[in-house]
Amino acid sequence: MDYDVLILGGGIIGCAVAYELSKYSLNIALIEKDYDIADDVALINSAVVYDGSECDDTLMAKLEMIGNEMFDELSERLKVPFKRQGSLIVAEDEVSEEKVNEIYKRGIELGVKNIRILDKNQVYELEPNLNLKVLKAVYSPNTGVVCPYDLALAYGEIAFDNGVNFRLEEEVLDIQKITKGFRVITNKNKFTCKMVINTTPGQNYSIDSTEKSYKDKRNLSFFLLEKDCRFNYNNTIFTIKDSAENVRIIPTVPGNIILALNTEEPVGYENTLKEFNSFLGQIDENKINAFYQWPYYKDTIIIDESLIDKGYIKVIGKHYGQVTMTPSIGKMVCETIISNINCKLKKDFIDKRREVYNFRELSNEDRNQLIKVNKKYGNIICVCQNITEGEIIDAIRRPLGARTVEGIKRRTGATFGNCKGAHCFNKIVSILGRETNKRPTEIVNDLRNSNILKSRIKEFQK
Ligand SMILES: Cc1cc2nc3c(=O)[nH]c(=O)nc-3n(C[C@H](O)[C@H](O)[C@H](O)COP(=O)(O)OP(=O)(O)OC[C@H]3O[C@@H](n4cnc5c(N)ncnc54)[C@H](O)[C@@H]3O)c2cc1C
Repeated sequence: MDYDVLILGGGIIGCAVAYELSKYSLNIALIEKDYDIADDVALINSAVVYDGSECDDTLMAKLEMIGNEMFDELSERLKVPFKRQGSLIVAEDEVSEEKVNEIYKRGIELGVKNIRILDKNQVYELEPNLNLKVLKAVYSPNTGVVCPYDLALAYGEIAFDNGVNFRLEEEVLDIQKITKGFRVITNKNKFTCKMVINTTPGQNYSIDSTEKSYKDKRNLSFFLLEKDCRFNYNNTIFTIKDSAENVRIIPTVPGNIILALNTEEPVGYENTLKEFNSFLGQIDENKINAFYQWPYYKDTIIIDESLIDKGYIKVIGKHYGQVTMTPSIGKMVCETIISNINCKLKKDFIDKRREVYNFRELSNEDRNQLIKVNKKYGNIICVCQNITEGEIIDAIRRPLGARTVEGIKRRTGATFGNCKGAHCFNKIVSILGRETNKRPTEIVNDLRNSNILKSRIKEFQK
């Protein structure tokens, strides 16, 4: 057998499973079709860590609740930015007041700790800048925000350092049952293995009997506002109007604000702006750093173990709280695997992420020390975000290092400033080319064929 376990898909779930299984004496590989892991994790730098009370599906709510409780210890251990900042689910009219009462009742029945109903005055005490009509709200101190991409990277990097073989740019084409285990066919190889964990949503292979379609799909349109926008909130705020539209306001880990509009169909930039202008008062468009529209799912996540006797587990479904559930799903899948395969805990497992310098957060004294050791930390590449050449090189050279401009952006924060990369984009392409021994024309933004430079203007013969 080539491997004991093959994990298909390097999203946040695949990386979490790889991390949990890398604690055991197993020969593991993870296969991901893209250039980088966790490429699909929502790009914006904060995800809400829900506590289960907002969720009307009891199973999903429990997975959220268990995941939520794991976040303090996990984020501390993996050095992932996480902030427990609380949430308010606000009722603006009598219909939504009824819903707020239901959410509170459901939360109590589920066993969510310390949630309470607040009246209008108590809400304004917590959020003096809230420009909404408020009747009442459910308050939860448990809700948090995390950098989801960083969490996925941390899982992946530790798994990599503990021996998991990450096979990037390799697409799984089929999974076949063989006498003892499986044959996994990719566009590059054929592997045999004892067990398969399939986390590639929507993919159906010979072994699968059901076609999965995503039914509960809505749309999220969101603005990422600059830190110095005039809005200032302490909690994540949700409205639950009876109409098809809901609004959420999320103060992110680094201190920006996300304004998100949840609608049935994509509504575009202008309509999103109009909605928020009428809702919160005039937004200064110069303070909008980015606008995204993304499909938003509310399926039930199923950990399908119906073929576990044969050695196959499939994680099916897409859900808006999947980042929250990831620590619990990772552990559950791992427990099922280790109870079905002969393995032991490794004695030499290193539960630590390799550290990198974050120039922005260092004191001037530490910066000078660092520059004395390596001058590349004295060369600022992204002027808006103060990201140095040294950090970009670290992002390329660290375990599972960046191979795309998007990978650099997400690992370092470069290009996310006011100029949106106008100043540093080309410099990043050059550094990537130099460090990976490729021509600038070969460097891609993100996916295959997303090359940034088409060709040189002039070619000279030597
Ligand atoms: C707009 C938006 C906002 C969200 N906000 C939140 C939030 O606030 N809180 C929260 O908890 N969650 C949130 N989520 C949910 C969460 O980000 C996603 O559900 C989660 O990232 C999905 O992870 P995954 O690993 O299951 O799937 P994916 O990230 O889709 O990973 C699957 C991987 O498999 C790879 N793959 C697919 N097919 C193949 C193949 N044939 N061969 C090899 N590889 C393959 C893909 O390239 C991908 O990398 C949000 C999601 C969205 C879209």
